[in-house]
Amino acid sequence: MQGTSGTGHLNWAGMQKLTEKLFTVKYKEDTGRPHIEIVDQAVCANDCKGKYCTHFCPAGVYEWNEEQKKTLVSSGNCIECGACSIGCPFDNIACHSPRGGYGAQFKFG
Ligand code: SF4
Ligand code: SF4
Repeated sequence: MQGTSGTGHLNWAGMQKLTEKLFTVKYKEDTGRPHIEIVDQAVCANDCKGKYCTHFCPAGVYEWNEEQKKTLVSSGNCIECGACSIGCPFDNIACHSPRGGYGAQFKFG
């Protein structure tokens, strides 16, 4: 299959296509009502050594700021993949579905 290696994993050509697809996702932000929030920044600062969210989010929503000692959230980048509801080992991310008409808008085809 084109875009995969013999093992079924994505090869470079496949990754390029995935990246191109991600650029087609638009996000309509519900300003004033962020759908993703860090429950307790102290947990990020004191307990979480791996800052896992900065690695598992495919859209780069999370960024650790060493000066402020907090996890910054760019919810407008979210593509609603669902990974953060299971990816944080401290269950420290509150992720709600955006209201109807808001959030990621996928283009098919
Ligand atoms: S993985 Fe969870 S606890 Fe760790 S930095 Fe991210 S939100 Fe905070
Ligand atoms: S739902 Fe997916 S894209 Fe959105 S913040 Fe969580 S991990 Fe990132």
